[in-house]
Amino acid sequence: MFIGHFGAGFAGKKISKLPSLGTLFMASQFIDLLWPVFLLLNIEHVKIDPGNTAFTPLDFVSYPFSHSLFAVIVWGALFAGIYYWVKKDLKSSLLLAALVLSHWILDFITHRPDLPLVPGIDLKVGLGLWNSVPFTILAEGFVFAAGIFLYIKTTKAINKKGIYTLWGLIAFLTVIYISNIIGPPPPGVEPIGYIGLSQWLIVVWGYWIDRNRKSSGP
Ligand SMILES: [Zn+2]
Repeated sequence: MFIGHFGAGFAGKKISKLPSLGTLFMASQFIDLLWPVFLLLNIEHVKIDPGNTAFTPLDFVSYPFSHSLFAVIVWGALFAGIYYWVKKDLKSSLLLAALVLSHWILDFITHRPDLPLVPGIDLKVGLGLWNSVPFTILAEGFVFAAGIFLYIKTTKAINKKGIYTLWGLIAFLTVIYISNIIGPPPPGVEPIGYIGLSQWLIVVWGYWIDRNRKSSGP
């Protein structure tokens, strides 16, 4: 899953208005922001295998430190702990922990059984929505659109930038999503790592949007 995770980040604003959209994105996409680092360090492994599932040409051979359920719970606790230490807001911290965990749950629905529960134990899970391209697009599109809807209901642009930056990002993510579906498989593991790392720019974009919008209502 890709844009669905950003949908979850957008939706987070409805629950707590304190964290910036950038922080919400960082949480909901956190383990996919770590994953390219582990790939490039050769700690985790992926193979390009067109047809692995109908939706993705990637075979997630091993990613216990970014994508096992146990690791994700630890990352979520760490993320929330640091936020609480800085902002002293329990509700937002719990929301961020839930968003980190939401990534694993959405991946669990979409991936074939390649998600480990605990590092070192060979039990892997996944419901395999990716075996169907139309159902994947439907489900992921719904989560993405619902998140945007909630974010727009909860915030108001305070200037023109607050509108352009938001819709610019929505268009950008949609184009990437479509080109991932219809484009050729990635040329190698290293490019996957660098493209993955570039997702940090989407987090920065989230902060940029949030600076130009304010929460409407209490
Ligand atoms: Zn993931």
